[in-house]
Amino acid sequence: MAPTRGYTLTWLGHGTFHLVTRDGRVVLLDPWVEGNPACPNEHKSFEKIDVITISHGHGDHMADAVTLGLKFKPTIVCNYEIHLFLQKKGVTTTSPMNKGGTQEAGGVRFTMVHAVHSSGIEDGGQVTYGGEPCGFVVTLEDGTRIYHAGDTGVHSDMALIGEIYRPDVALLPIGDHFTMSPREAAYAARMLGARVIVPAHHGTFPVLSGTPDALKAELKTLGVAAEVVPLRPGEALS
Ligand SMILES: [Zn+2]
Repeated sequence: MAPTRGYTLTWLGHGTFHLVTRDGRVVLLDPWVEGNPACPNEHKSFEKIDVITISHGHGDHMADAVTLGLKFKPTIVCNYEIHLFLQKKGVTTTSPMNKGGTQEAGGVRFTMVHAVHSSGIEDGGQVTYGGEPCGFVVTLEDGTRIYHAGDTGVHSDMALIGEIYRPDVALLPIGDHFTMSPREAAYAARMLGARVIVPAHHGTFPVLSGTPDALKAELKTLGVAAEVVPLRPGEALS
């Protein structure tokens, strides 16, 4: 299947996305695969991974970082504290950064941006400080920009993200309870100005009750013209 946009972006359920770029680079955003009840089994194994990004320290966003990091030796783009944690676990391919900065990995550019959430890392019954949560603006070889919001509430920095980076596609959590609901996500979409919104972080568990249809209704109420593209886990944006 030939990707129409020069890339293939597959939702693996929850906050996890698998991106294959035009030049064949494989990027895994928020590696939660093995224990992810929404991830189809046929998407749980990989031939290669060039880059992993981690938005924050919660297990449902980085539980497979150590396993996949040791196996594929991808560049792991994350905050400094998660980098220290992964180094302690023997993962040597981390490339830490902080908000406002951009780094290139595997021919793709990653800009770390603000998110409103928490980031503690649970490890052996203890909580390790995981730095600040973040999102990423991913700029592909052809200039396409994909904003992966991570887990976040709506916040006014999204207007700056929209103004500075002009994302083409925004991957937004809509599940409610731990992140934005569709109502807040519609305000986020208005600030971001992205043409395409892919809903994430919904439906994994009953408590994540926000739906793409509710997001569409909220966008209509606000008069935001963004197109909502609801994917099923395992389905790709095309
Ligand atoms: Zn979280």
